[in-house]
Parts: sequence; structure tokens; C-alpha cells
Amino acid sequence: MSLANGRHYLAIPGPSVMPDRVLQAMHRPAPNIYTGELVDMVSDIVPDLKSVARTRHDVAMYIANGHGAWEAALTNTLSRGERILILGTGRFCLGWGEMASALGVEAQVIDFGLASDIDMGRVAEALTADRDHRIKAVLAVHVDTATSVRNDIQALRETLNAADHPAMLFSDNIACLACDEFHMDDWGVDLMVTGSQKGLMTPPGMAFVYFNPKADAARDTADLVTPYWDWRPRSKPELFYRYFCGTAPTHHLYGLRVALDMILKEEGLEQVWARHATLARAIWAAFEAWGQGGQMRLNIAEAGKRSNAVTTVNMGGGNATRLREWMIHEAGVTLGIPLGMDAAPDDFFRIGHMGHVNAQMVLGVLGSLQAGMAALQIPHDPGGLEAATAVIAGTGA
Ligand SMILES: *Cc1c(COP(=O)(O)O)cnc(C)c1O
Repeated sequence: MSLANGRHYLAIPGPSVMPDRVLQAMHRPAPNIYTGELVDMVSDIVPDLKSVARTRHDVAMYIANGHGAWEAALTNTLSRGERILILGTGRFCLGWGEMASALGVEAQVIDFGLASDIDMGRVAEALTADRDHRIKAVLAVHVDTATSVRNDIQALRETLNAADHPAMLFSDNIACLACDEFHMDDWGVDLMVTGSQKGLMTPPGMAFVYFNPKADAARDTADLVTPYWDWRPRSKPELFYRYFCGTAPTHHLYGLRVALDMILKEEGLEQVWARHATLARAIWAAFEAWGQGGQMRLNIAEAGKRSNAVTTVNMGGGNATRLREWMIHEAGVTLGIPLGMDAAPDDFFRIGHMGHVNAQMVLGVLGSLQAGMAALQIPHDPGGLEAATAVIAGTGA
């Protein structure tokens, strides 16, 4: 007998759970790509994509995953031999920097480790030391999906301004757009990348690069620009065909249309952020109670620095892999594997709680975790589920 039979829950940080309505919208024959519904739909999707990022500026769409958006961001703005500053807070921004190095860009890296956010003091030092302003762009992740840290992108802009440094500010919001609050224009972000398969609740396969006039001016001199990744024809195409430098991702667009309606028109972006915040607090409350006396803890100690989209848990004692396996086979839940936690890979797992996620799903994961800890005799303190339900009920701390 297995209690996992039933609807499986993929609780990993992307691809996230896709609403049935998104999937159903994609289940159709190939549409007319010359005129009519699909063409009209794309002109409506573009302003909605901008609303989700809270920007008035441009967005280019790609048939790609997040790595494609990374490459598009780099190639549209940089030249071989130019320098960028990479602010590493986990696997992801470091990966973006490695890609830049492979393209011939000089990546200066500050690594803040696997359980911390960006230390603005160290960024300020690096910017002040760069007297000739060789650094063209500062690259950060809003949320690092490996560590589940959320960086303060607005404070990063203030740090650049205080240092009077002209570098552009790039933010990777692939994990957290439409989960964690973000204001591209108000926070002074020059370029932002995201993908379809996390907060946007659409299958992997579309990526988005948002850029303001300052980043677009860098496109004039960037020697890494290539015809396929060039954002100019994609953001203001004179022909529909140019939006995607070829055939449009027809079915993804139908799915994305429904997902954007659900976020912006039905629930409302601020309510979407609030839902993510409350569900995340329920998860944190459970682990804080379970881990009171033991080794179990949330990877990011300070609540204000945690993402509302993903939680990295340090179970200690090599217990994470065992529990993750139990969850798959006995409870029908797949949790995220650790990324970059090479010193103790069996101590960590991640819970994705981004996008189409509600209270019963989160409580189901937490209840299953408690059952798994009991079954595997993993020591834990009592009160985890009570603490989580109190957050959901609105009666908790
Ligand atoms: C998922 C993710 C990526 C990579 O996206 P892919 O679609 O897997 O290429 C990059 N950065 C962050 C912060 C992510 O969460």
C-alpha cells in the first residue's frame, strides 16, 4: 500500500503548479499566426507583463527558460572585456556570472555565502574602489532559489546612488516575480529577468527581459548582441513575426494570458503578494516550532530576509534526503533538492510555494512532513502544525 496514490504535488521551486485553466487554455489546435486572436492577444499581454513588474518601460519575450533570459540580458548590454559586479547569495547569481565570464565579460564576484543576503557595506566598498567606473552593471538576484534569501534590491539601488556610481542595476526575479513584492521602476532597477514557470504559473518555455532606457542605451554599444537575442525587434516589432524572431510560442501565450488574468484581474497583484506572504509565514512557523530544541532550522535566520516563494530548510543530521524520499513515496509530495549545499547535501531540501498555491496545499505539505518525521524517527519538537494553522487562521504570532 502507498498513501502517495492520488494527485501528486510538485512542491519544488519551479516549475510550479499550473492552474488547470492555464493548461486547458493551451489545449487547442494551432492558431492563425498571421492575424486575429493570437496577434491581438500578444498586444494585450505586453502591458500586463509590465504591470506584474510595476514598470512603464520595455519587455522583450523569448522562447527560452531562465538561462535564456540571462544570456539575453548580458548580450544586449555588454561588450567583451567589460566588467560587471556579481553579488553572490547562492547558486543563481554566481551562475549568471559564470555565463558572463564564458561570454568574455570580466565578472568581479563578491560571494556572501549560502545563508546571507547582500551586505551593502561590502558593495559600497567595491563601488568606491572602482574609481574609473569600470563596472558597467551590478548583478543581483531578488530571491536566490538555492538559499531562499531575498535581497533588498531597493537598498542596492540606494547603495549605487550613494556611491555616485553609474553602473546599471540588473535583478534576477526568475524565482519570485508575482510572489515577492517588486517595483522595477520605483526601486531603480535598469534590467530585470524572469521566466514563465514560477510565479507566472505557466509551463517552462517563455522568458522575459525587462529594460529601461538606460539599459537600452547600453544596447547601442554592446558588442555581444546577436540577431536572435537582440531585444530591439522583440520589444517594438514592426511585424508580429519579429516579437519572437520567428514563430510565436502559440500555446504558451494562451496559457500565459489566463495566468495573467488570474493574477492581475481576478485576484489582484497585491493580494497575490499577501497570499504568498501568509503561506510562507505558516511554513516558517512550523519549522521554528519543530526546530526549537534541535538542529532543524530555516536556512535564512531573519524572517525579513526570507523569500515568500521558496523556503530552504536545514534539517541537520543528514535527515533531509531521507525525509524528501519518504514524502515522494509515502505522501505524494516532491520537494526541491538542495542546490549548492555541497558541504552537507543530505541536510537540506527546499519547499516551493510559488504561484498557484493555497492554504490546504501548504498545510498538506506540513502535515505530511510531520508524519514523515514521526515515521523516520527524526527528532522534532511539538507544535509545528499548531503554529502553522494559527498563521492560517489569523490567530498566530
Ligand atoms: C529558476 C531560476 C533560474 C533558472 O531558470 P531556468 O528556467 O531553470 O533556466 C535562474 N535564477 C533564479 C533566481 C531561478 O529561480
